[in-house]
Amino acid sequence: MRLRASALPVLLTWPALWGVPLGHGLEPPIQSREIDSMSIAITFDACPTSSKAIGFDRAVFDTLTREQVPATIFVSGRWVDQHPEAMAELASSPLIEFGDHSYDHPHMRALPPAQMELQVDRTEATLARYGRRGVAFRPPYGEWSQGVLEVLQRKQIPVVLWDVVSGDPSDKISAKGIVRNVMARTRPGSIIVFHINGRGWRTADALPTVIAQLRERGEDRVFGAQGSGVDDDES
Ligand SMILES: [Zn+2]
Repeated sequence: MRLRASALPVLLTWPALWGVPLGHGLEPPIQSREIDSMSIAITFDACPTSSKAIGFDRAVFDTLTREQVPATIFVSGRWVDQHPEAMAELASSPLIEFGDHSYDHPHMRALPPAQMELQVDRTEATLARYGRRGVAFRPPYGEWSQGVLEVLQRKQIPVVLWDVVSGDPSDKISAKGIVRNVMARTRPGSIIVFHINGRGWRTADALPTVIAQLRERGEDRVFGAQGSGVDDDES
């Protein structure tokens, strides 16, 4: 597996969808990448799970490790604080890169800039304890605004969304349904979003089939959301 994403232009997919006028020099969120190979990005959100003591879907991580598939996990700082053992394992895996998913999952657009900044900084501080940093920021609920972009741009952290929803937070969707969703929507350069905080009900059941089917289609080169993954040392 290798990636070439770092040198690629960002494909500006549907920036008009939100109708947010972007200030001069602001980059819209990344939803997918223009890419000249079959690479795709597999990403997971680890949203805070206040209702559960344990919100780590270990079977998902086991599959990634067994299949040697790199992935980006967008962690909320509170999730990091609540899952020290899982974090130690994830942070020691060369397959895993981290994204920043705010500290406690607020509606970022509603916050004053200083609070937005605090959400990012607190999460970065939790990651730093594991010798890691967020290579990208994914706002909770995919909600962004010019203010959110400005804060992240000042910190030089790209804002990364997705173009393929797996649908895994719904307890109504079967593993087959997740596979169908992902396979129907994924194309080269896609960024797929799953959950690894136990909120994905059938993610672990679906993931091995998703990986196998992506590989069958030739989409077995997986890049990190930032394009700075672990497998960029080849050629
Ligand atoms: Zn989330």
